[in-house]
Amino acid sequence: MVLAQLGGSITRALQQMSNATVIDEKVLNDCLNEINRALLQSDVQFELVRDMRTNIKKIVNLQDLAAGHNKRKIIQQAVFNELCKMLDPGKSSFVPKKGKTSVVMFVGLQGSGKTTTCTKYAHYYQKKGWKPALVCADTFRAGAFDQLKQNATKAKTPFYGSYMESDPVKIAVEGVERFKEENRDLIIVDTSGRHKQEAALFEEMRQVSEATNPDLVIFVMDSSIGQAAFDQAQAFKQSVAVGAVIITKMDGHAKGGGSLSAVAATKSPVIFIGTGEHMDEFEVFEVKPFVSRLLG
Ligand code: GDP
Repeated sequence: MVLAQLGGSITRALQQMSNATVIDEKVLNDCLNEINRALLQSDVQFELVRDMRTNIKKIVNLQDLAAGHNKRKIIQQAVFNELCKMLDPGKSSFVPKKGKTSVVMFVGLQGSGKTTTCTKYAHYYQKKGWKPALVCADTFRAGAFDQLKQNATKAKTPFYGSYMESDPVKIAVEGVERFKEENRDLIIVDTSGRHKQEAALFEEMRQVSEATNPDLVIFVMDSSIGQAAFDQAQAFKQSVAVGAVIITKMDGHAKGGGSLSAVAATKSPVIFIGTGEHMDEFEVFEVKPFVSRLLG
């Protein structure tokens, strides 16, 4: 089920509940069952769905609600709030300051859209008058440096990398140093994509992080990852201090529910979403407008 359908299904479940003459336990349970089914079909992690149901039941205690209360409204509000809570870890991420050097490191699975997202992120700030720079510390994937170079050139953003050097830690440190000397205010380090199983690559990522001491580590996740999202995101969080999430390919037919799981696993907010292959297809993510839009 894609995200738009998820929103539609939840809205329909709430509508059905609203149409009932009397809202009793059965009507509420039917509504919550529908919502649960929609969330699970969208690949939201089972535990999150279960917790959401428990929380709503706690808030909407039909016996305690006096006759005068607008039960429909209370239930709708509770569902809205719980969806927001799933996407809001309760703390904001590090926010770079214009004119002051920040180092931001990108991590994620290969193919997640990490390299593309690094450039989009640089471009977003460059348009606002920042001076970003890109460092390619991906020595694992052949062609990674060329890709970054191409993207960076298109975005007119300075970049650093090497065809010869095979040590990503060395490249990352050199790149960060160079751009610090040049007073760039947003130094973006792209790392190689890796899988949960690849212990050596995770260790390399940890070393890059230790050597460059980033102000922020961004975990990039493809919205189509599905039920594997929670475990993958958690594996990254365990190796490096992930502080924010960017979800890519929100324009596709992905289920998207994995994004809710990634927030839960990393306890970090989603800060941007990718909505296409092009540089400008990149949006700031805000929880409440997103959920409002989801529920139409
Ligand atoms: P990396 O291996 O994680 O660095 O992934 P890449 O940046 O090379 O991206 C993998 C593919 O996903 C490329 O074909 C990108 O153009 C595409 N891609 C990245 N972000 C998005 C997005 O938001 N929407 C769509 N439709 N495609 C994207």
